[in-house]
Amino acid sequence: MLLIMLAWQGVGRAAVVLEPGQSSRPITSDMQYLHDETRQQGLDDVLRLPGSAWQQNDSDSFSHGYTNDNWWLRFAVGNTGAQTSRLLVELAYPVLDEVEVWVLGSNNRVDAHYRLGDKQPFHERILQHRFFLIPLELPPAGEHMVVLRLKTTSSMQAPLTLWNERDYHERDQRVLLAEGLFFGGMGLMVLYSIFVFVALRDRLYFYYVLFVFSLLVFLASLKGLSFQFFWPQATQWNDRVLIVTLASMMASGGLFTIRFLRIREYMPRFFWLTLGLVVMTSLTVVLAFFMSYGQLMQPLIVTAALSCLVLLGGGVWRWRQGDRSARFYTIAWGSMLLGGVVLALNKFQLLPQNFLTENAMQMGVAAEVILLSLAIVDRINEERRQRFRAQQNILASERRAHEAQYKALVAEREANELLEQRVHERTEALQIANRKLEELSTSDQLTGLRNRRYLDRALQEECCRCQRYQHPLAVLLLDIDHFKRFNDEFGHDVGDECLRRVGAVLAMEMRTPIDHVARYGGEEFCVVMPETELEGARIVAERIRSAVESMRFTVGDRVVPVTVSIGVASMVPPDEDYSREMLKKADVMLYEAKAAGRNCVMTPGRSGNRA
Ligand code: GH3
Ligand code: MG
Ligand code: MG
Repeated sequence: MLLIMLAWQGVGRAAVVLEPGQSSRPITSDMQYLHDETRQQGLDDVLRLPGSAWQQNDSDSFSHGYTNDNWWLRFAVGNTGAQTSRLLVELAYPVLDEVEVWVLGSNNRVDAHYRLGDKQPFHERILQHRFFLIPLELPPAGEHMVVLRLKTTSSMQAPLTLWNERDYHERDQRVLLAEGLFFGGMGLMVLYSIFVFVALRDRLYFYYVLFVFSLLVFLASLKGLSFQFFWPQATQWNDRVLIVTLASMMASGGLFTIRFLRIREYMPRFFWLTLGLVVMTSLTVVLAFFMSYGQLMQPLIVTAALSCLVLLGGGVWRWRQGDRSARFYTIAWGSMLLGGVVLALNKFQLLPQNFLTENAMQMGVAAEVILLSLAIVDRINEERRQRFRAQQNILASERRAHEAQYKALVAEREANELLEQRVHERTEALQIANRKLEELSTSDQLTGLRNRRYLDRALQEECCRCQRYQHPLAVLLLDIDHFKRFNDEFGHDVGDECLRRVGAVLAMEMRTPIDHVARYGGEEFCVVMPETELEGARIVAERIRSAVESMRFTVGDRVVPVTVSIGVASMVPPDEDYSREMLKKADVMLYEAKAAGRNCVMTPGRSGNRA
């Protein structure tokens, strides 16, 4: 016991004291520490050690990296006031695994013994607070020595502050409100983005939600909030969650970046680097459930730092390439990194400690979360604008195509109409020409009557028709009397004129177009009369004969008589090909008329008469 007393006196340092009116003061520079690599020593052991075994911590911070050894800290707290002072020692680093605390009175009497650390269920803490708090009650002129044993797989840090209890709680309310505002606001962003993701189904929002959510849980766990409020019993999960959230933050951040900056299209090599980091960090999420915190945390921190730089670099690069949305992205990412850097500089006392520098990280994160959200909106708007423009272009070209098609169709129709009209005109002309040709080929040039060719065909058709309907058909054969003499006496031209006159008389007398009148050859004419009985035919023949006889044909001053002989045949044709027979019968009758003295009509079974 004497030894211990000596050791304590050997500290040679004044106790940490809060002056009247002072709310708090750091302890770090007034404490001593001892590194126990054997991890075997107990309280008695370390107290028994000579004062020289303890090292004075002259720094404003206590930071010794990853060791997993026992670290012993000790400092004295005194009360120079006239009243009992109620004090709090705050250890503001909530991820320490084991924190064992002894409060020693005079003669190293153990006045209090606490077990803290996040390997203890939360409710076992002497004060239920996210940080480790040690209550001290000091009577006037009283003094306590506080000894701590720390052991952790996280980095060894011990930010210790002595507080006036009342002031601490007053300040803590404001801090807690600020934390609540920060996490509440960020949490709303997450919730809102989940809705947007569900509505838009854009993967960007999914990555964003995963990123912000991981980031929030990571920060909340680092601050001891999630252990206090969400899983106060889950002591094994407490350090694991830091790995899982940090890794998933980097993985989702990477995926977000790949998609947001369209890295695959624009920076193929950079794409593989980013994807590699995503795969590594995703793998870490899984490994967190099988490996210890100490094994994973250090490589993960290196990977995360590298990822941050890579992702920021990607943003800068795409910005320089002219990607509009990369501006937001880069500023967002940069503001979080800036927050981290400012906080680090603050911790190393390279920047003054004030509200801005203390909360730089939160501000950076808030700025990032908001800016990234804006960036997504900007990206989606930009894409929509591009889609709209593309659609407009498609519509315009479709309209142009339609118009062109319409014009082509109109032109085609006009061309077709023109063609049809031409064809129609040509066909008509052709028909007219054909008719003319037909007329010419079936006309007699001299008299203008039909010729034999026509008559043969007409007679055949009439024969068919009358046979079918069993109607009578009449044929007259007419021959000018003594025409050879006429020619001989007056010449061929006068003969032709005579033929024309007789033809005109015939045309006058006949009921064309029902009857067919033709010059049958030389000075012979033929008349075909459908629907005509023999008697009717005879009357017509007689009328013709008489008309020719009474025609005045003059040659010079001389009146020259012209007469004709007519043979008549009429019957219902017994078969379709009876036309030749009909003509033959008429011809026989004509021959008989000539024999009977000419200028007469001869019908079968009757003698010629001369009217
Ligand atoms: P018939 O009373 O017996 O009939 O005596 P015909 O002199 O008229 O005898 P036929 O009928 O045999 O005479 C035919 C004559 O008709 C022969 C020819 O000189 C004359 N002829 C035939 N065709 C033409 C013609 O196109 N023009 C002229 N001018 N005469 C013709
Ligand atoms: Mg004749
Ligand atoms: Mg004759």
